[in-house]
Amino acid sequence: MALMTGEQYIESLRRLKTRVYMFGEQVENWVDHPIIRPSINSVAMTYDLVQDPEYADLMTAKSSLTGKTINRFTHLHQSTDDLIRKVKMQRLLGQKTGACFQRCVGMDAFNAVFSTTYELDEAKGTKYHENFVKFLEMIQDEDLVVDGAMTDPKGDRGKAPHAQPDKDLFLRIAERRPDGIVVRGAKAHQTGAVNSHWHLIMPTIAMREADADYAVSFACPSDAEGLFMVYGRQSCDTRKLEDPCSVDVGNSRFGGQEALVVFDDVFIP
Ligand SMILES: Cc1cc2nc3c(=O)[nH]c(=O)nc-3n(C[C@H](O)[C@H](O)[C@H](O)COP(=O)(O)OP(=O)(O)OC[C@H]3O[C@@H](n4cnc5c(N)ncnc54)[C@H](O)[C@@H]3O)c2cc1C
Repeated sequence: MALMTGEQYIESLRRLKTRVYMFGEQVENWVDHPIIRPSINSVAMTYDLVQDPEYADLMTAKSSLTGKTINRFTHLHQSTDDLIRKVKMQRLLGQKTGACFQRCVGMDAFNAVFSTTYELDEAKGTKYHENFVKFLEMIQDEDLVVDGAMTDPKGDRGKAPHAQPDKDLFLRIAERRPDGIVVRGAKAHQTGAVNSHWHLIMPTIAMREADADYAVSFACPSDAEGLFMVYGRQSCDTRKLEDPCSVDVGNSRFGGQEALVVFDDVFIP
């Protein structure tokens, strides 16, 4: 599959049934909402620069999994040169958008989960690495955006997940079924969550035996049944609603985004 253009990325968001809430109400056409759209434009730039002959070399990499040319934001770092190119790519995008382009956390999450699942399988004889590699190959081939989701609401910071009075303050397995798990809880301050096709969930702190239900990592699509996004308010966000030619509006074309992602009994096969 060819790497997407910015416009194709935006159209791919329209095909998702992502449930987005802002100012206490559901936003149906969130893709064109004037507060949200600048953050989508920032992500679109990570696609458009791939198509630009001047930047294509920096913005792409050869997949270590498939050998195909992929967007560097979906790449597993293989060398010092990859790390330098990653930072140069981020600097370029900062120059082009003057905002957060929202794909860095997902990229870091790929690299962390790739090595963690490998070590886990070595120690426990499980097959998580194979599952993860299949997932990442799909993300690379379809050129998708993934939210790296770690931060739970947490509640009392002095207490472990299982010891919280409200059991849902850390995301947890609410039910185990023969065909999968049902998860409940939330991930907070998720960069680019609304603009992502998928979410890669990881625990936010080290867990002990009693926290077994909370020690869970998985991936799920943005429009999974039971998934809800509450758009994060930013200072001056309503300025995006003002006349874009007004000097007060600031960066009217680009922006960043964080959201509270609520998992209201989401089934993970
Ligand atoms: C703009 C933005 C984007 C973000 N994007 C993402 C994202 O894409 N994905 C993601 O997973 N997360 C994201 N985050 C969340 C971020 O990783 C967390 O905010 C951060 O890890 C801190 O966690 P916290 O907010 O729970 O604060 P806390 O961990 O509660 O820390 C708050 C303060 O309390 C102190 N503290 C914490 N625990 C204790 C304790 N037991 N005793 C004493 N002091 C304590 C800390 O040192 C700190 O000063 C984002 C945050 C921001 C602001």
